[in-house]
Amino acid sequence: MSSLLVVMVWNESENGTIGRMKSLLVANWKMNPPTFKEAKKLFEATKKAADTVKSVSIVVAPPAIYVRELRASYRGKRIAFGVQNAHFEAKGSYTGEISMAEAKDAGAAYVIIGHAERRAMGETNDDTRKKVASAIAHSIFPVLCVGEKERGHEGEHFDLIKEQLKTGFADVLIAKIPRVMIAYEPVWAIGAETAMNPRDMHEMAIFIRKTIVGLYGEKGMVVKILYGGSIDERNASDMLTHGDIAGLLVGRASADPEKLTALVRAIKNV
Ligand code: PEP
Repeated sequence: MSSLLVVMVWNESENGTIGRMKSLLVANWKMNPPTFKEAKKLFEATKKAADTVKSVSIVVAPPAIYVRELRASYRGKRIAFGVQNAHFEAKGSYTGEISMAEAKDAGAAYVIIGHAERRAMGETNDDTRKKVASAIAHSIFPVLCVGEKERGHEGEHFDLIKEQLKTGFADVLIAKIPRVMIAYEPVWAIGAETAMNPRDMHEMAIFIRKTIVGLYGEKGMVVKILYGGSIDERNASDMLTHGDIAGLLVGRASADPEKLTALVRAIKNV
């Protein structure tokens, strides 16, 4: 599975991030593709899509090993780069890990934190707290993923989301909230056949905002909320229009040049 995060577009600023709102796609390629040759081809398609549809900007989060070279090859302003995970410690004996500083040095301006697949490998809410804090300390924009595995009849999933948010934001100062994006990804919708209903996303977006406002007061309203889970060219526009969200985290579509192109076109006028 690969992931593509679509959010309302920001213009690129001098530090390689994407600035003010237009439409944004952040592509999380996960552990794909298997060769750098293929990664370059996928990146070419991504670049072309971004160049063709001016209302959309893209954050590409390839396997970390590809970031530096792809970043170095890119001269444009419409694509930024991210990593799919990074350790919270600044350096040390953490075999197989990369630090926020290393990610930044390679050219990443964004880091995905707490993706369902990382949580399934044992990442805890407390790990996400430390990672979000470390990302902010290194001037990398965290994309904090939250989402329930299943929905109970009593709305138990809201409690779980609240806990993920409260812990994830625990070390974030009020002045830094605008730097954190929240990707709501119900685990049951990831890699599924259909996305969540946009009206349900709308309800969840209100809940997420209310939770952040509960933590920070009105300033919490600035937080950007994304949706992820089985988004493609058929449902992206509807989700962006009715989901009360700033963007989308998209998986499989990011690893397929044709699907990616169709998706970007589909949200051209949203
Ligand atoms: C994901 O893995 O985060 C995801 C959204 O995947 P997909 O779009 O394939 O459901």
